[in-house]
Amino acid sequence: MSVLVYIESEEGKFKKGALELASYAKGIADAANTELNAITFNAEDFSELGKYGISSVMAVSNEKLKNFNAVTYANAISQAAKNKNSDIVVVSQSANGKYVAPLLAAQLEAGYIPNAIALPESINPFQVKRTVFSNKAFSVTEVTTATKVVGLSKNAYGLKEANTKVTSETFEPALSENESDISVVSVDKAKDKVTIADAEIIVSGGRGLKGPENWEMIEEMADILGAATACSKPVSDMDWRPHSEHVGQTGKPVASNLYIAIGISGAIQHLAGVNAAKTKVVINNDPEAPFFKAADYGIVGDAFEVVPKLNEKLKEFKEKNA
Ligand code: FAD
Repeated sequence: MSVLVYIESEEGKFKKGALELASYAKGIADAANTELNAITFNAEDFSELGKYGISSVMAVSNEKLKNFNAVTYANAISQAAKNKNSDIVVVSQSANGKYVAPLLAAQLEAGYIPNAIALPESINPFQVKRTVFSNKAFSVTEVTTATKVVGLSKNAYGLKEANTKVTSETFEPALSENESDISVVSVDKAKDKVTIADAEIIVSGGRGLKGPENWEMIEEMADILGAATACSKPVSDMDWRPHSEHVGQTGKPVASNLYIAIGISGAIQHLAGVNAAKTKVVINNDPEAPFFKAADYGIVGDAFEVVPKLNEKLKEFKEKNA
């Protein structure tokens, strides 16, 4: 018995979500009283992983894993799981993790528990609490297969420091030339901009902002806070903002620590994408706007008056505390 965790990296670096996953996998291995191994692709410095409980890394260095391909990634991880006799495999519910996990579960003939939000309630039987119905409800799910795959929701567990000495071994999965029918031809990454999937803070605007020309104050707030900008569906449908910023059931889910919603009504389809955000601040001139029911803090007021004032105060605060 052992636990294997697939730790994602970007250009060899581990982001907060990856370190959170390391903490979670360490928690599962401790609860199951078993060994923990991590697998990484094309990363070299593992000291950061040690801070969050990883002591053993299977380091894969392979050009075929340079660009994301769910099939190739799942093949490599399943080979590592078989190599280590892992019966619990832990992955993130990141955009890539969501593609990899079901393929991995199929290859390992494993039951899959997506959207896990806590350590297993019980190891034997294997039961884990997860969110269901777009984060509207919880379910404790039991998996009865010999091997289990667990996907941890972003921001659900937190970072738990556990200073550990890390050792690594090279692992060379057998990956053929024609591993997948899909190959990545080129990758263009948004530069100098925080993406909404990774952002700690998001400033989001809705139809209440009346038009794309009014986004300057949203961008100003995002600049002051070091935040990403986002929007509701109609805003991206009308081309006021790019589709990559669309949050919700049919857009991207977010898991930021702070989500500031400005001129967004809070329709159920929008809320489905923001339920995992930790603190929600709503600015809306309609006190009956449904978003207030989901908000931690609310300001009833005209965005065109409130946001510029808020920006001034935030700037002052930042200057004083720089
Ligand atoms: P509105 O509903 O028009 O709300 C604008 C808000 O701004 C109002 O609450 C108003 O009081 C406020 N306002 C107006 N003027 C001001 C002002 N001066 N100051 C402050 N506040 C002001 N929507 C999504 O966002 N994401 C999705 O993924 C999504 N998926 C969908 C999937 C399906 C199948 C369907 C049917 C719908 C989906 N929708 C989605 C659309 C959703 O139902 C709502 O229509 C949409 O979220 C509304 O966007 P909004 O809040 O920006 O606009």
